[in-house]
Amino acid sequence: MTRFAPSLALSTLAVGLLGITSTAHAGKPPAPNLSNAEFQQCLDTLKNSSKFRSVDSFTFNTHRPTQPDPSVIQSLNYQPEFQKDTWDYLSSLVDEERVIDGIQAKRQWADTLRQIEARYGVKAEHVLGVWGVESNFGQTLGKKPLFESLATLSCFDRRQSYFRGEFANALKIVQRGDVSASDMTGSWAGAFGQTQFMPSTYLDLAVDFDGDGRRDLVNSVPDALASTANFLDNRGYRSGEPWGYEVKIPAVYWGASDRKNKNCMSYWRDKGFTLADGRPLPYDLSSAGLLLPAGQDGPAFLVGKNFDAFYSYNASENYALAIAHLSDLIEKEQSYKTDFITPWPTDDPGISRRQAREIQQALLNAGYDIGEVDGIIGDNTRTAIRQYQTSQGVFPADGRAGQKFYRLIMANSGNMSSNTSPTNRSSVWQSPNTYGQPASATEYGNRYGQSASQSSSQPDRMATLIKQSGQQDGYNNRYRRVVGADGVTRLIRVDDGQ
Ligand code: CA
Repeated sequence: MTRFAPSLALSTLAVGLLGITSTAHAGKPPAPNLSNAEFQQCLDTLKNSSKFRSVDSFTFNTHRPTQPDPSVIQSLNYQPEFQKDTWDYLSSLVDEERVIDGIQAKRQWADTLRQIEARYGVKAEHVLGVWGVESNFGQTLGKKPLFESLATLSCFDRRQSYFRGEFANALKIVQRGDVSASDMTGSWAGAFGQTQFMPSTYLDLAVDFDGDGRRDLVNSVPDALASTANFLDNRGYRSGEPWGYEVKIPAVYWGASDRKNKNCMSYWRDKGFTLADGRPLPYDLSSAGLLLPAGQDGPAFLVGKNFDAFYSYNASENYALAIAHLSDLIEKEQSYKTDFITPWPTDDPGISRRQAREIQQALLNAGYDIGEVDGIIGDNTRTAIRQYQTSQGVFPADGRAGQKFYRLIMANSGNMSSNTSPTNRSSVWQSPNTYGQPASATEYGNRYGQSASQSSSQPDRMATLIKQSGQQDGYNNRYRRVVGADGVTRLIRVDDGQ
């Protein structure tokens, strides 16, 4: 299988871009110089090629980009300098916010999810797991104009044939009137909508579930959720089966750890495997393979065919595990403890998106220009962390945002979560244990190893900077600190879009 052979392998990149990496990379290669004359000539050729035979001239000309987008090629060539450990990857994808959002989504869309389960046999929480990881329950769809991205990739990338097909398919979707052209935005690689389907996957598997005659994966949640279920069903989902379990490996086990090497449950029982909490393995999986994402010393899983269906969405075991784990936590309504039973083999676990935002805010307060506080640890934030670590004599200064760094910078800045929690979630954070989250900042502090008294003190430095800049409207606003060429520090409100 080549990297881009299945259309969904591409959404690996899409998800990476939407969910994990920052949009502003210090480590990105420079944007290439793309000739517009060459681009327009390429589009003329495409228009008359066989792939575009069923796209009418009106549609092609209406949506024909006037110029290429070099940032798309830049993103394609970008290789992150920092490879995430499995626990870092999972801690940001499956954190308390996403579980809470998932529980709320489950309640809001309960009737629709029941109807989808009745028609496709896919469990509600499994659909929600995909939705949450793919687009943060419809909140993160990507903003790149799809025609510009796909046309640029069609003319300037080495995998032109693949992207030309997707470009033609994107035009067909608009031509049929399913999705309006203005809604055709997404990741730079061409995945779009709440399910982050590539156009070819859309044409194959999207369904109209709200009955308006259009398959609108951008604006219709029922269409998006049913299309996800249809996708999983198409990829071998087994109705009524769990995705798998976290398990405990027997003390002496020398067998293979290969997800694809599946055996029946009595095989695993005979080998001495149990559930992670010691209970015997259930028999509700037809077959399962062993998955050890961090080797023998970390969490272990027996995974069935439904895990494989998750995997086919994005061709990544960690990605599939994120969906699986998020599904379980939504089902159990457990947002306060998102870890597995067996800890990861590290003394420095990963951080949630909330903790990432707190780190970013503390770095801004300390004078580091990390860009926008977005909860995404990209290259700019990592560079700042490395500098901060060096200034604190931390060795190695690796730029990684883990629990140790979180505790260090929180202790130094005297900051606490209550000041940097997003305002639109404050009611959720503060409501007494609705979803099992701490009832108070004190409990929060205790849980994260902070003393409650820290939360009441504000960093003087921040107050001074805000005063200097003339911004005196409190601490809930996010600021970007910019040092001008004249050496003067200015704070710019991030909310102003600057
Ligand atoms: Ca519809």
